[in-house]
Amino acid sequence: MQPLTWFRSLRKTNAKKKEKANNKKNKRQREHSGKTLTFSITQNANSVGIHGDSLSLQFAVEGIDLPQNVDASFSVWSILPAAMAAGFNVHIEHPIDPVVAANAEQLTRIWEMWIPNRYRSVTVSGEGEWSRNRKQRFPRVDLYSGGVDSTYSILQSASLKHRGYALTVRGLDYRDKNASAKRFPELISKTAPLLKKINYQQTVVRTDARFDPLSITHGFTLASCLFLLSDLFEEGTIAADQTLVQDMVTFPWGNNHLTNHYLAGSDFAMRTVGADLTRTEKLAVIAGSGVALPFLSFCRKPSIVPSNCGRCDKCVRTKVMLAAAIGRVPEIFIDSQFNKDFVKRLETGGRGRADVFEIYHYALQHGHIDAVPGLLELVEECRQIETPDPREL
Ligand SMILES: [Zn+2]
Repeated sequence: MQPLTWFRSLRKTNAKKKEKANNKKNKRQREHSGKTLTFSITQNANSVGIHGDSLSLQFAVEGIDLPQNVDASFSVWSILPAAMAAGFNVHIEHPIDPVVAANAEQLTRIWEMWIPNRYRSVTVSGEGEWSRNRKQRFPRVDLYSGGVDSTYSILQSASLKHRGYALTVRGLDYRDKNASAKRFPELISKTAPLLKKINYQQTVVRTDARFDPLSITHGFTLASCLFLLSDLFEEGTIAADQTLVQDMVTFPWGNNHLTNHYLAGSDFAMRTVGADLTRTEKLAVIAGSGVALPFLSFCRKPSIVPSNCGRCDKCVRTKVMLAAAIGRVPEIFIDSQFNKDFVKRLETGGRGRADVFEIYHYALQHGHIDAVPGLLELVEECRQIETPDPREL
């Protein structure tokens, strides 16, 4: 067996084992299935807690003051992954935006259809009549992780005339379990000069609302962090991970245009931005801006972040995209080596195919094929993938 093939099959075996363990865990969790669990919200200045029978979640905001009695609708999104996995209905002891409740229920029906061995459709309810307390709000808050997609987004919407607001979440990528949480302050100081330059104010939400598998649930956590600020802003944005076309390849993935559309209420929504461009195209824009490249942080290695190791899967993929985008790998990696072996580490199965073709198409159009050694072999590998006939699935 080729070393690369061996590596991929090991990864698949591990994924299957994990899936099996998760299914077992989900079955155990389903002791509450069909029941209605009640949750209450407590607030102490900028710290907000969600408390219920089997679940307690914390949120703490920095960089902007929350009003008293925040809109409790945010809690729905953060509870939903646990509710869908366990099959319990959600009741919040506070007024909930009826549009949030209806959209949340629809989302649970979608996820039950997409992943029926993991999720159940549930109902969502609140108490009392919901209304927005604040009429005067800032126009927009943008989720910002320091990564490629959100850096592109804030560059596009930056205006020196009007102050922008960036929201960085601690608790998903940066978390206590793998010690990366300790490095979160470095992410804040690394990105601060860019935000200052483009007239953005940085805000932070720290939370422990994190559910496996993150690839599906991260959209819910991010939406809950944005909705926590819905008394202060008229809308929130999230940078698209993929284009609409790539969403059709990467299925099911938590941050997608279809389900993101339902992360919305009566007067606040998580709007998806940057859907027209692939990540390679976004990198070309970021490099062309002349200001943002040194502030990028996309590495997945907990002991290295917010620097970029240059060796993990995410760093390797970004190196290949940069080579296709600008014809070279810039000095933003600890290990900036680049050769055919790095390119060949890209996956061709699953969502990897979307990356390979976006890189190939961009490099081809911009005369950068020679800057990405081994790319054509990967494309050939993708061409061997058989597309299933939906009638035979
Ligand atoms: Zn890395």
